[in-house]
Amino acid sequence: MNEPLQPETLAVRSGTVRSQFNEHSEAMYLTSSFVFTSAAEAAARFSGAEAGPIYARFTNPSVSMFEERLAALEGAERCVAFASGMAAILATVMGLMKAGEHVVASRSIFGSTVQLFNNILGRFGIETTFVSPTDPEEWRAAIKPNTRLFFLESPSNPLTEVSDIQALADIAHANGAWLAVDNCFCTPILQRPLELGADIVIHSATKYLDGQGRVLGGAVLGNKDLMEGVYTFLRTAGPTLSAFNAWVLHKGLETLGLRMRAHSENALVLATWLQAQPKVTRVLYPGLPSHPQHELAMRQQKTGGGIVAFEVAGGQSAAWKVIDATQVMSITANLGDTRTTITHPSSTTHSRLTPEQRATAGINDGLIRIAVGLEAVVDLQNDLARGLDGCSK
Ligand SMILES: *Cc1c(COP(=O)(O)O)cnc(C)c1O
Repeated sequence: MNEPLQPETLAVRSGTVRSQFNEHSEAMYLTSSFVFTSAAEAAARFSGAEAGPIYARFTNPSVSMFEERLAALEGAERCVAFASGMAAILATVMGLMKAGEHVVASRSIFGSTVQLFNNILGRFGIETTFVSPTDPEEWRAAIKPNTRLFFLESPSNPLTEVSDIQALADIAHANGAWLAVDNCFCTPILQRPLELGADIVIHSATKYLDGQGRVLGGAVLGNKDLMEGVYTFLRTAGPTLSAFNAWVLHKGLETLGLRMRAHSENALVLATWLQAQPKVTRVLYPGLPSHPQHELAMRQQKTGGGIVAFEVAGGQSAAWKVIDATQVMSITANLGDTRTTITHPSSTTHSRLTPEQRATAGINDGLIRIAVGLEAVVDLQNDLARGLDGCSK
């Protein structure tokens, strides 16, 4: 084929390798190892002279199919899959950095990622400085001679702050560092960080890539040179994606485009509706013109995505009332599911921060985060209206 294929086509067609039976849906390779036809073939596989699977810690056709499909969607030379999003982030650092080097990271990143940088990688001599996701000058000022990596999520959780990926890539590159973007919230359907200058894209495949809350998975993507380091860590240390989970994720990607469009449409309707509710004091959604980085978001993302945050007057008791009044939504911190989830960040995902840290981060006790699912949006509005009617202004 001569014409480059569209993402919707890549999502259902790319990466598939058929066995001798020519199955239409992909086979699942539940095997720990692979047999060789001769000693010479075994030697050739191990030396790398001949391509092909060896042992499932680092080569499995089900995993490779998922990697190929996600690489096609992100426009990456290579993808390396992992057992979880956290394993993917760990592997990025272990594969590409060494003790004595320095990371500059957004302050608004996933809680376990903060713990990983501070409490685990810190013990092995990798130091991290946390800065504002929205102020490139803070990133520039945090650079040291040993800075090797910039790390961010955009939009951030739960406040949906949007980082200027292009501007931060330029600052990183001018100072000999790589930019890694955790693209969990947008997926390649809404945002392709490599095209904006990022060097590395990371996914928690557990979220939208699966999209149905079934399995854990992760991935790191980038050029062949960088991914060789990440792959070497996988091969040696073994935080491997299972064949079953890879198969589920590979199929999940087939509906990713449809789902991301539907999540975004529902989220925009819900955010617009929330803005008109008297008991709601603030709505944060990148697709709304009132969002502080709306223009930037619309430049680097196709839509505002599926995550909406809002504040109610009356602090924690009012927020809990809204959450407890829901009958359709799931009260859980997970996101990226067909089912809408609702969470109170200050008492759950961000409860380990001190009140001062939460105040600095802009997470107040009236804040509620919704990961908008695929239900009819009118049912979601009614679900929130129940609790909003009861909350004190
Ligand atoms: C969930 C999540 C992770 C961690 O992924 P797991 O698959 O749970 O290990 C990393 N980053 C973001 C933005 C997430 O939402």
